[in-house]
Amino acid sequence: MLRVAVVGSGPSGCYTAQGLVQQDSSVFVDVIDRLPCPYGLVRYGVAPDHEKIKSLQGNLRTVLEHERVRFLGGVRVGGPGGLPVGRLRELYHAVVYCVGAATDRRLGIPGERLPGSWSATEFVSWYSAHPDAVDDGFVRDAESAVVIGVGNVAVDVARMLARGPAELSPTDMPEAALAALAASRVAEIHMVGRRGPSQARFTTKELRELGALPDTDVVVDPDELALDPAYADPSGLPAVQRRNVEVLRQWAATPASGRPRRIHLRFFLRPVELLAVGSRVGAVRFERTAPDGRGGVYGTGHREDVAAQLVLRSVGYRGVPLDGLPFDAATGTVPHRQGRVLRDGTVAAGEYVAGWIKRGPTGVIGTNRPCAKETVASLLADASGLPRGRVPEDSVPALRAEGFEPVEWTGWQAIERAEARLGASLGRGVVKLPDWESLRTAARTAAP
Ligand code: NAP
Repeated sequence: MLRVAVVGSGPSGCYTAQGLVQQDSSVFVDVIDRLPCPYGLVRYGVAPDHEKIKSLQGNLRTVLEHERVRFLGGVRVGGPGGLPVGRLRELYHAVVYCVGAATDRRLGIPGERLPGSWSATEFVSWYSAHPDAVDDGFVRDAESAVVIGVGNVAVDVARMLARGPAELSPTDMPEAALAALAASRVAEIHMVGRRGPSQARFTTKELRELGALPDTDVVVDPDELALDPAYADPSGLPAVQRRNVEVLRQWAATPASGRPRRIHLRFFLRPVELLAVGSRVGAVRFERTAPDGRGGVYGTGHREDVAAQLVLRSVGYRGVPLDGLPFDAATGTVPHRQGRVLRDGTVAAGEYVAGWIKRGPTGVIGTNRPCAKETVASLLADASGLPRGRVPEDSVPALRAEGFEPVEWTGWQAIERAEARLGASLGRGVVKLPDWESLRTAARTAAP
């Protein structure tokens, strides 16, 4: 019997657990998560209106319900009050860290921390009901918003700002966020890239969705697109970028139809400072850039201020070091060889990584499959060399002795039932519980 802990129950953790139990019938996996709820960014990152992507939870569920897989929520590994990595190693033959990239990249410009300026991840956490999210009235008193960055997260948050109550109400978003967004007066949403349209990171399907928003015009300035050398002839671009440029070209040729909201897609503007009005952010100062011919840009010295009472910095995620695990600060990842953790350049027996903490915050959910597959292959190839039998048969008593109250699958199912009841009481579908207290209370109602 090989007992493996997978830390993190997002897609990379679930795909890792799946690979392990499918390929070796002697493997038992505990999927440990600091939250009482499984699925990681599928539950707390995928936008609520992306129901098709969210339905992937059904696939991840079958993994966590496998007879040799067990979900243990509410157990933090590392950090203050968390289970030390060294202690976790004593409880399992091998540990796979699938902890993702838990924080946001910084811009490093003056004013970045002004009230009203948030990372997109904070905004996403709020409307996704993450129990650590803070509600600071993101859209209250805002009429104009700037989203910095042109990746898929930027598209998500721009779209959520533009959606009305009729579209948001059927989602599982928490009641407070729904009420705030329904009352929002944000009418101008500026999504701004520092490079050109042919270098934007969003994918075409996500980009096109902006054009399908019922109450929103998408505004694109053809002169700004034309600053991109690839704009005149996009035929040499990779398929996604070519299609992106084609979509943008169509929008640039379409006059606004006078809908109540506008998403302005802007390019070749790099943020240099967030400007205050009173004590809060009031505008973003950009510098016009120009292509340098090598895929980068240089500043032209021309400034443009865009008014914004809400700024969402959507410039990518970043991995966070876990006490007791090596960490490469330059890449925000754990050094590894084919998923095997490297300590001072040497493979550490029984320690593995998969997902964003292994390869950085890129790719779509499906990218985690081959990533997990590589790690699983490494672990199973090493399995005969791992000393068996020295770990407890069941880690739960040991976790309880350490002061944790693991939420097992029945606890999670009790949370699901509570969310269905809450939704029914509000005349909506399932509505997520937004705080630790209500999640813990619901989990405790599980039959023992
Ligand atoms: P991302 O794709 O890496 O995009 C980050 C954006 O921020 C880029 O436009 C980047 O511009 C810009 N940026 C970085 N540093 C900047 C700076 N200092 N100043 C101005 N702009 C800056 O990151 P993401 O949007 O957070 O997405 C993360 C991953 O999740 C991606 O793989 C994404 O596809 C995936 N995701 C997928 C979906 C979906 O499939 N629906 C939804 C959400 C997220 P440069 O290119 O110039 O660096």
